[in-house]
Amino acid sequence: MTRLRALTGCLAAASLLVSGYAEDAPKRIPRTDMSDTELEVMAREIHAAHLTIDTHMDVPMVLKRPGFDISKEYSWYENASQVDFPRMKKGGIDGGFFVVYVGQGPLTHEGRAQAIDAGFEIADLIRKTVEEHSDIAAIATSSDEAYAIRETGKRVVFLGIENGYTIGRNLDLLKDYYEKGVRYFGVTHSKNNDLGDSSTDPKGNMHMGLSDLGLAAIEECNRLGIMVDISHSSDKTAWDILEASATPVIASHSGSYANYPHPRNLNDALLKEIAARDGVVQMNMFSAYMMEVQPNEERSSAMSLWFKNYRGGKELSEAESLKSVDEYVAIQQKYPKPLSTVSAVVDHIDHMVEIMGVDHIGISGDFDGGGGVDGSMDIGQMMPITIEMLRRGYTEEDLKKFWGANVMRVLDACQSYAESLVPEEED
Ligand SMILES: [Zn+2]
Repeated sequence: MTRLRALTGCLAAASLLVSGYAEDAPKRIPRTDMSDTELEVMAREIHAAHLTIDTHMDVPMVLKRPGFDISKEYSWYENASQVDFPRMKKGGIDGGFFVVYVGQGPLTHEGRAQAIDAGFEIADLIRKTVEEHSDIAAIATSSDEAYAIRETGKRVVFLGIENGYTIGRNLDLLKDYYEKGVRYFGVTHSKNNDLGDSSTDPKGNMHMGLSDLGLAAIEECNRLGIMVDISHSSDKTAWDILEASATPVIASHSGSYANYPHPRNLNDALLKEIAARDGVVQMNMFSAYMMEVQPNEERSSAMSLWFKNYRGGKELSEAESLKSVDEYVAIQQKYPKPLSTVSAVVDHIDHMVEIMGVDHIGISGDFDGGGGVDGSMDIGQMMPITIEMLRRGYTEEDLKKFWGANVMRVLDACQSYAESLVPEEED
């Protein structure tokens, strides 16, 4: 394994020599001579021609709602929903990663057991939902499958995990998740867990980075061909993951710290290292990580009351669940949350391109998980991002990479690595 790891490292270094950093990249020429309509036509043609993947959609949060039907078109403002198949299609998005997310709970036997149950339940819910709509969507577990599904005109659904809490302390479960189609594994969420430290735990560090169990989880992901996701991990955890992983890593939804200093964003040193190891960072469209949000007492107290009434682990009846959605929508309408802009999203991308080059960047909306910026509040509204990138001079080739080719390259690398280990195991 050591030899293979060294080889992967060499290949990553070699590919950087070939692709080079942005210093030697051709200078982009802004398309100032094109009208908005012309740019939109160009954007739509590009989306129609290439695989377009959003790597972080929390749609299972909404799938759980009674009566929600992903084959119907909803809206953020009326239904507090940001992802469904009709909007994906309209918005020129082929699909992406539906996330198996479990919020961080207590690190106790009971807490872990509940997290494991919840995780598998969500993975099954995603699979069942896609199976029920097999005429319009299909599960993808490799880049080849994604490209093939795209050819049929169906939406592409990958599975990813957000929060290693979903395996408790049982590494064997990674194989079970792999078999359910999971192709990325986010080590932490907003608090520390058994595997490593989070970037936002108010209590600070627990392990000083990745724990021994976390290290073993990375090796198991490498062995299986699951991409390791550093989003939400503390900087030290991220560095430990980069050091430990035999394959390139991803940040499924993260922005640039140089653009806005939030602990969820990645500093230039981390960005450089991710690129040096041939990984990708998928720009996260989460407004509060891109701008100073002024405290709004009324909104905060309305939201905490809502959380108190409808979250906190209690099972909701169908009526309660529907009422919770109505109240959530009412709060959003009464106290709209402050939103960042499409332009700020592309500012982060510009900076990351400067640091990493165009081969290491992708896009994620974080929809149904708090994501969205003014003018791009759901999966049907991704075109403004492409239009802004075109306006600033990005090429079709760049956009093809950002919208899918880069992250698919990382998935291929992870799967090839796993395949390369198989003969060793048969000894
Ligand atoms: Zn997240």
